[in-house]
Amino acid sequence: MSLEHTRVVHTELMEVLKNIITQEDSSVRLILQKNTGEKFLYPPLDKMLYMNIDRTLDILDFVVSKNFMTKKQIETLKFCPICFSYEIIPTEHCTNCGSTNISRGRVIEHFSCGYRNLESLFVTNGGLECPRCHKTLMIEGKDYSRGKLMYKCHACGNLYDSPIIDYHCQKCGEYFPIEELGETIVYQYELESSKKDLIQSSLKMVESLDGSLKENGYNVKRGTQVTGASGITYDVDLYATNSAKEDVILAVTYLLEDKITIDEVLRLQALGYDLNAKKIVVMSYAPFDQRAEFLANYYNIKKVVPEKTGEVTKEQVIKLL
Ligand SMILES: [Zn+2]
Ligand SMILES: [Zn+2]
Ligand SMILES: [Zn+2]
Repeated sequence: MSLEHTRVVHTELMEVLKNIITQEDSSVRLILQKNTGEKFLYPPLDKMLYMNIDRTLDILDFVVSKNFMTKKQIETLKFCPICFSYEIIPTEHCTNCGSTNISRGRVIEHFSCGYRNLESLFVTNGGLECPRCHKTLMIEGKDYSRGKLMYKCHACGNLYDSPIIDYHCQKCGEYFPIEELGETIVYQYELESSKKDLIQSSLKMVESLDGSLKENGYNVKRGTQVTGASGITYDVDLYATNSAKEDVILAVTYLLEDKITIDEVLRLQALGYDLNAKKIVVMSYAPFDQRAEFLANYYNIKKVVPEKTGEVTKEQVIKLL
């Protein structure tokens, strides 16, 4: 089955693509706050199109599933769970007393007295001197050893391998362990550049047919809702009526499909019947598959393959009328 007419509302799909293709970088960002579940789009596509955000995301994910778009996680931002500020900096604390008054350095051990502390405490003008016994340290390996990097607390004297790290909010002043921080994930949906021309032309074809039908005295509605004899309302790409000719044309496009299937032809025939369409027109670069083509011919469903630019030619329009 052609999914773009059954999974998502096609007129909404067209609006979303039309909007994204006009963005400078053909992309839209989803900002998701993991803790609260809050989400918004930037630019705010959903608000610009008066659509529900979940519905907009369904459409974007559908376009991704059809390989016309990519979705990438581009950023993870941490924020303060109290005041929501992103101005948080990691701070290192003493494992013993929690003080932030600590420093990091190589540890020197003076063999003869056993004193051990950061190198900076041994440094004098001339070289190294033990702060405890005040002897000069001469030869590394014989008088003393220079060991690994460690942390020293200036508040309690504790010497340790790695500090406790937590996060200090610069706005409200609170400290938090990493697991308590809020997290915002930023995703980017971006149109595949190789598909841009195809999308542009596919959007153009409805506009082009619209113009030609109007010239021929039709009353045309594009990206609209039409209610059938059954009372059911459908979203259709184009619906044109001409009371003088007693003609009703239903036209549909396919942007993301590579093939139009027999199920889709059956759906169109039923749709055309309910909408009392005299002619059903399929505008697409995608071919019918073999059985779909047979059935489409049998039902007299007309296929229009527009010019590369998306233009529907005068000759093609005349054949429809
Ligand atoms: Zn301490
Ligand atoms: Zn010493
Ligand atoms: Zn805060």
